[in-house]
Amino acid sequence: MVQLTAQSMPASMSAAVLANLPATALELHSRPVPVPEHDDDVVLRVEACGICGTDLHILRGESYRPDLPFMLGHEPVGVVVAAGATAESWMGKRATITLFTGDGTCPVCLAGDERLCPHLQSITGVLVVDGAYAEFVRVHARQLVEVPDSLSGPEVASLVDSGATAANSIRVALEARAAQVLVVGAGPIGFLAAEMLQADAVAHQVVEPNELRRAKLAALGHTVIASFDQVAGQSDVVVDCTGVSDVMAPGVAALTPHGLYVLAGYARVPDFDFGVVSRKEATIRGVRSGRREDLERLISLVASRKVRLPEISTWPLSEVNVALEALRTGAVPGKAVIIPDPLWEA
Ligand SMILES: [Zn+2]
Repeated sequence: MVQLTAQSMPASMSAAVLANLPATALELHSRPVPVPEHDDDVVLRVEACGICGTDLHILRGESYRPDLPFMLGHEPVGVVVAAGATAESWMGKRATITLFTGDGTCPVCLAGDERLCPHLQSITGVLVVDGAYAEFVRVHARQLVEVPDSLSGPEVASLVDSGATAANSIRVALEARAAQVLVVGAGPIGFLAAEMLQADAVAHQVVEPNELRRAKLAALGHTVIASFDQVAGQSDVVVDCTGVSDVMAPGVAALTPHGLYVLAGYARVPDFDFGVVSRKEATIRGVRSGRREDLERLISLVASRKVRLPEISTWPLSEVNVALEALRTGAVPGKAVIIPDPLWEA
């Protein structure tokens, strides 16, 4: 039993539970409210939690396979309401998280890349550790990233994984001294990637077939096109934010010689001719979410209004399946965010 500090908390909470795989829906159940299990654990009272495309992949049984039953939800923001002995200083603070917990001791972890740890221990809301489609969620204090009060819960929730991924991708693109970037996909990651490029005055185009999403970015001054046929010139860097298999061939074709293809979406490409990669001496670079400092940098850019957010659509936790269906059918123009029912009603 750890020594803990806690505000008065209920014994049970509403949660959306993944009960089988594949699944088309989550089940709403009452679950015990988590308590700190280790000295560096905290419990957040969830204000909001973003829905990520990865959640849809998991439901289809095409991605991570957590032990069931499991609670998804890896883009939380909330207030620390309980803390273990070494995490007391977090009590009452508002925070979001970095998702990945490595062994904390290997060179990869020590370099700040715990999400690439060969002995990865958990991904909150994805693998091993329950997530935040619930009223409360337990995380390690070392995962916490404090957030400014000027950003609302849904605004922060729209940044956690999508934002870290966008910021990581754009850091990689800028390290390559890109003069012209092609962003593929204007979902939450592509939207933020385009805004970060605009904030840095880097020339870019965005390819997006969904008219709703295209219109949102075009209204903010970005060059947005519906298909690869309309791409003007070649790009030093292509940032693939789609997770869709059939964009890779036209994406690599749009690269300059020695170009860099940044793969932010995870797609399985069954038949790909690497000849084009060799003929261009192109580089394909994977991106897995982002570093803590990627998330911190983007939060700061959004708080100072240098980067704008995609349109946010919210649903109460009890309607999480309506939200998932809206995402599946392309009816969400920007980011989908879940809010626990007591806060939604307030
Ligand atoms: Zn490690």
